[in-house]
Amino acid sequence: MGSVVISVDAELGWGSVDFDTPPESRVESARSGWLTLCDLLAEYDVPATWAVVGHLFHESCDGRHPDHPVGTEWFVQKRKEWADRSALRYAADPIETIRDSGPAHEVGCHTYSHVEFGAPETTETVATAELERSLDVAEEWGIDLTSAVYPRNNVGHRRVLADYGFESYRGRQSASRRSFPEKLRTVAFGFGHPPLVTPTVDEYGLIDIPASLFLFSFEGAPLRLSQPVVGDPVIELVERGLAAAADSDGVSHLWLHPNNLVGDAHVQRIDASLRASRRGLSYDDGRDRPPFREDDRVGAVSLRAVPRSGTRRRRFSLRYPRRRQLRVAQGIYNYGPGHRHSD
Ligand SMILES: [Zn+2]
Ligand SMILES: [Zn+2]
Repeated sequence: MGSVVISVDAELGWGSVDFDTPPESRVESARSGWLTLCDLLAEYDVPATWAVVGHLFHESCDGRHPDHPVGTEWFVQKRKEWADRSALRYAADPIETIRDSGPAHEVGCHTYSHVEFGAPETTETVATAELERSLDVAEEWGIDLTSAVYPRNNVGHRRVLADYGFESYRGRQSASRRSFPEKLRTVAFGFGHPPLVTPTVDEYGLIDIPASLFLFSFEGAPLRLSQPVVGDPVIELVERGLAAAADSDGVSHLWLHPNNLVGDAHVQRIDASLRASRRGLSYDDGRDRPPFREDDRVGAVSLRAVPRSGTRRRRFSLRYPRRRQLRVAQGIYNYGPGHRHSD
């Protein structure tokens, strides 16, 4: 059986913490998009991994975080321009909605304050502080974070991630971003590989589940040109990925931000993607599809539940970091077959 994973970068105002001019309309739509997405996932009973920025678990803060090695400047926008907009800094209610809305979603980690781990200026001390704070505040909610999504997919400090008991992360999409002509070719002629990925185990024992399709990668001109001809090309790609996943027991990994859900067309795109995920491959729309076997289906799973059977070990010697062994010894971190993957 193939798998489809949907990971969600849940960040509200934090996605633009380091921008001089935050994109106001996207920021504005983040909260409503979050709730719309929760509703859609519930409607189709599709679980997702919600990678939540740790700061969003707070109900209030001092606005400065003087003990955080990233420096108080990092939080300046949140305590100045957005001082009166607590809806962008905190998300207790939306997080509750994830927990209450039906399918067994996973809550994962999107760092504490949206620091790019792969950026050269991000020291190990800062990365450690980001993870420690995220784990602590999630623990207050009774949530054990084991999957991570790196801000801007900028992968870094994986050893620290493993040290703190994480098991998996979303890796960068393998191909570089599709160019404009390539997008048009994909739409017009169906060129290109279906969006499938192969999870691998890295040298720290972490499972890297790369992204295969950003659900808002066809915007602007490519979308305007192709939509009247073939409909929404993203839906086409999602369906192609699902077909390939079912055919090869593969993994299709879709991702989005809640703030991408602006306007009817975008809501319809997610609706159609989830409907396709839900029904596996029992296409009933009369379009020409390759034939599939009765049992060729796709299950929607969270990052932590991606089947391990399909993972390939990278050619590194596997090494268990010190603190990880400590966590195993203390019984905090229990890595074993079947552990936690029943949900
Ligand atoms: Zn704060
Ligand atoms: Zn982000």
